[in-house]
Amino acid sequence: MQYIPNIIFILALAAGIGYFTMNVRKLIRNIRLGKDIDRSDNKSARFKNMAKIALGQGKMTRRPVSGFLHIIVYVGFIIINIEVLEIIIDGIFGTHRIFSFLGGLYDFLIGSFEVLAFLVLVGVIIFWIRRNIVKIKRFWNPEMKGWPKNDGNLILYFEMVLMTLFLVMNATDLQLQELGADHYIKAGAYPISQFISPLFDGMSEGTLILIERGAWWLHILGILVFLNYLYFSKHLHILLAFPNTYFANLKPQGEFNNLEAVTKEVMLMMDPNADPFAAPEAGEEEGEPEKFGASDVTDLNWVQLMNSYTCTECGRCTSECPANQTGKKLSPRKIMMDTRDRLQEVGDNIDKNGSFVDDGKQLLNDYITPEELWACTSCNACVETCPVNISPLSIILDMRRYLVMEESAAPSELNVMMTNIENNGAPWPFNQMDRMNWSNE
Ligand code: SF4
Ligand code: SF4
Repeated sequence: MQYIPNIIFILALAAGIGYFTMNVRKLIRNIRLGKDIDRSDNKSARFKNMAKIALGQGKMTRRPVSGFLHIIVYVGFIIINIEVLEIIIDGIFGTHRIFSFLGGLYDFLIGSFEVLAFLVLVGVIIFWIRRNIVKIKRFWNPEMKGWPKNDGNLILYFEMVLMTLFLVMNATDLQLQELGADHYIKAGAYPISQFISPLFDGMSEGTLILIERGAWWLHILGILVFLNYLYFSKHLHILLAFPNTYFANLKPQGEFNNLEAVTKEVMLMMDPNADPFAAPEAGEEEGEPEKFGASDVTDLNWVQLMNSYTCTECGRCTSECPANQTGKKLSPRKIMMDTRDRLQEVGDNIDKNGSFVDDGKQLLNDYITPEELWACTSCNACVETCPVNISPLSIILDMRRYLVMEESAAPSELNVMMTNIENNGAPWPFNQMDRMNWSNE
């Protein structure tokens, strides 16, 4: 009988971690649906990027208010979760505050967790106010209706509840320590919950234990639910920001990724001695790719697909996008959200049918329209500002490439320009022979 709570705890822990592992496997499977791209080069620069941008939050402080608050919530949330280790050991073995043998260090740790929990609480309340009362514009764009809006708020509620439970747990523990209740050994420092503790003055030992145990259970179960909620939420970025910044593009942002098959074709045209039937050299692609550009998520590469799962929906890209600022339909954040939604749809289709069964849909047109794609000025502002190094532009360019090379569906102005380049070697409608006419004037 006395082991029932331990057994329930172990079962809940196994279910929480098991379901999370299952979804992580799905996530990896979905990302692998993308085309291969080699990002194994320059490991030291990649680690540096990851340390600076994901771990050090290097790009967050460009907007000081939200950046500062985010760092508090990020650091606080991660460090407080060290406490979870103690909760897990206590839950499995039926101990109470197992790390209290650390003495002064334990007091310091619990005291720091409390201060951080309080700061996280203040931070998320300010975030909530900015979203819902101040109504910062980037959180109210059209793509932020429905689930994305609710998701943003739900995460804040989650964090508020978890931090409050943590402080209530400590406040009642402190009362029980002072009462000298069994198991509740004197341990820890409580700089924040000592101010909450008087709320429980005069309660019986039984009631205090009920509240303390209730807060303890809800806190750990809440963490397990939160862990599993990540897969369904933009909050996945707390895990994916690390690989995403590691595998980000290290080349100059304006460098275009030329298609090997097209480059080869152009080289053949320019070199009169080239043999069009020569066998491909080692490492060279043979023949033409199946499809030029991307019309669906499986035509994108795995880094682009990982980008879509990493997007935090913060909207910094959209707020910097000149096309969006001037009232065009394009929002780079929506490009990432659409890619993720479509990828999830393809993944669900595979789960249901064993392998992908054509559903008559694709990323192009069903999610992202040509109007959005052609509104992009390819300025790279979205890439530059993204706090986790996502490139909505690379997806836009690949989809445009599909429109031009597979569908010949570029806007008429572009078609005229491309015909001129083909016929005249320049974007203007003048014969090459007339180039020097201006000098005769
Ligand atoms: S590259 Fe395109 S999507 Fe990104 S900010 Fe510039 S115009 Fe907007
Ligand atoms: S792409 Fe980057 S900047 Fe844009 S919403 Fe996503 S995380 Fe924010």
